[in-house]
Amino acid sequence: MRKKETTRRRKSRTPRLSRPAKTAAMIPYAHQSIDEADVRAVAEVLRSDWITTGPKVQEFEEAIAAFAGTRAGVAVSNGTAALHAAAYAAGIGPGDEVIVPAMTFAASANCVLYLGGTPVFADVLERSLVIDPAQVEAKLTPRTKAIMAVDYTGHPCDYDALRSIADRHGLLLIADAAHALGAEYKGRKVGTLADLTMFSFHPVKHVTTGEGGMVVTDDPELADRMRIFRNHGISTDARVRAEKGTWYYEMVDLGYNYRLTDIQCALGISQLRKLPRALARRRAIAARYDEAFARLPGIEPLSVSPDVRHAYHLYVVRVDPARIGMDRDAAFRVLREKGIGVNVHYIPVHLHPYYRTRLGTHTGMCPVAEAAYQRILSLPMYPAMTDADVRRVIDAVGQVARARVP
Ligand SMILES: *Cc1c(COP(=O)(O)O)cnc(C)c1O
Repeated sequence: MRKKETTRRRKSRTPRLSRPAKTAAMIPYAHQSIDEADVRAVAEVLRSDWITTGPKVQEFEEAIAAFAGTRAGVAVSNGTAALHAAAYAAGIGPGDEVIVPAMTFAASANCVLYLGGTPVFADVLERSLVIDPAQVEAKLTPRTKAIMAVDYTGHPCDYDALRSIADRHGLLLIADAAHALGAEYKGRKVGTLADLTMFSFHPVKHVTTGEGGMVVTDDPELADRMRIFRNHGISTDARVRAEKGTWYYEMVDLGYNYRLTDIQCALGISQLRKLPRALARRRAIAARYDEAFARLPGIEPLSVSPDVRHAYHLYVVRVDPARIGMDRDAAFRVLREKGIGVNVHYIPVHLHPYYRTRLGTHTGMCPVAEAAYQRILSLPMYPAMTDADVRRVIDAVGQVARARVP
């Protein structure tokens, strides 16, 4: 019966691109949305003269910078390269310290190590798990050079507090906004709140180019440094040389090949057109979750400050073992068995073996992040989720919570 239906459906309609496979029962925690317009945009570039650094790179940089409300954008090959470029532009080097929140992906801290600097971990706020400005203040030393703000889940940090600390101590403020394209703080867009703001275009993020990243900034000098950095430390790119009809170039610093291609940027431009709709869908899904879990003791969504507009890359809840009668790991297993692709974001960076060995970090350094890590679960959150998918997640979480011992 089912098989017959599937075949009929396949025949009668053009295949929907890039939906999680319907045969797999698992609803993933994140998934890209690719449509025919995206495919056409990529195919068009493949038929053109430029497939790597050509006109689409600049067009994508300008489109993201305009969306984020900044003057310049520098596209690079992935979000991690964007963090590396931002930390480089900020002048991080051996002996410098950068304050990084414990609750983030390792790349937020790794970029400091790439340049010979030292990440110093600060604890996060209990309610939203973004960096705690008081903990930043407590970690300042004469060697502190920058603060790395991470808009964990898509919830902007307290940028007024961070800016005030940065200004008082002459530090640069770098934002890892991999989760927060389209988020706002006190009516101001993420992108305009730090000296350098990084976005990722990995498939789980708001806009994808397969792999890709960008740093936006209002400072043309920082932008120039990053353009040179992404291209071997060479001061003009091949397109500019071609236009000027010259072969001459100079390598002025040690850079990398961190270029993003025109193929990828065409996808990014096409994706960006759908971002407002995608953000609205993410927010609508979050509102349904909020409503359902408000009546469900033991399942506690992270709180959202009234100062922010959340971008909902992730929807994270804390599970309370005392109320639901099972711990996070058990809840994770039960939900996975029910086909809900829950995940855990993140293991606090200072607890990773590499950091423990290399920097001597240990349990007890960031108690709020460590306690949160024991309880958090990321629920499925992506714009292509149907209302039925959302219902299935809510029902499954409800079954887990209500299975508690009396
Ligand atoms: C995704 C992500 C990155 C890295 O981006 P890539 O494009 O995967 O290299 C960095 N920081 C955070 C918080 C992220 O979520």
